[in-house]
Amino acid sequence: MVAEKYLEIQKRVENACARAGRDPGEVTLIAVSKTKPVGMLNEAYQAGARDFGENKVQEILEKYPVLPQDIRWHMIGHLQTNKVRQVVGKACLIHSVDSVKLAAEIEKESSKRNLVTPILLEVNVAEEESKFGFHLSETEQALTEIAAFPHVSIQGLMTIAPFVKDAEENRQIFRKLYQFFIDIKQKKADNVYMNVLSMGMTGDFEVAIEEGATMVRVGTGIFGEREKREN
Ligand SMILES: *Cc1c(COP(=O)(O)O)cnc(C)c1O
Repeated sequence: MVAEKYLEIQKRVENACARAGRDPGEVTLIAVSKTKPVGMLNEAYQAGARDFGENKVQEILEKYPVLPQDIRWHMIGHLQTNKVRQVVGKACLIHSVDSVKLAAEIEKESSKRNLVTPILLEVNVAEEESKFGFHLSETEQALTEIAAFPHVSIQGLMTIAPFVKDAEENRQIFRKLYQFFIDIKQKKADNVYMNVLSMGMTGDFEVAIEEGATMVRVGTGIFGEREKREN
């Protein structure tokens, strides 16, 4: 079941790329496996999934030792500074950097271990009160401050769009973030790469791809409904 779903979503990713005239190799499908048992992750792995997204450090710590070692773990949930130590070196990319203070902690832990940790800045484009992330107006300043950390490398931006019935309602959000992403990319600041734009979930990933996403994070569409709604 999970394998079929994964392949179906992968196909939809490819179709969205085709519609947008994009190379499907530019878009990574992240299987968001939070709350799901390792058996289901294994099924997705068998179908070809190598990128998995989790929103709790504890779940990454439990799952990574018992699953194939070529899996890339993406930390996509709000990260507390006191958990940074546990996730540095395990997550291939931290999508949810939402404060300079958090980036400073990642710098500290990465420096201790002589690592450079790839991160994305989370942007709350719609300025929803319930969500984490920088407002667009604050993001450039934050980028400048975080770019000064030598053991953190800014790979791009992430957003969680509002929960809407019709994905089209989020098109403007995605378009706005893509425009900002391109503007920043063109400035070519040191240690700011803008290779990754992580946006789009089960309900709106196709629209996000049409608007320039390079990573989409799909949970429900692959693994089915979760017990309770998270984030
Ligand atoms: C849970 C989650 C997703 C996946 O959501 P679905 O609607 O189940 O696809 C994507 N991104 C983040 C940050 C999440 O927490």
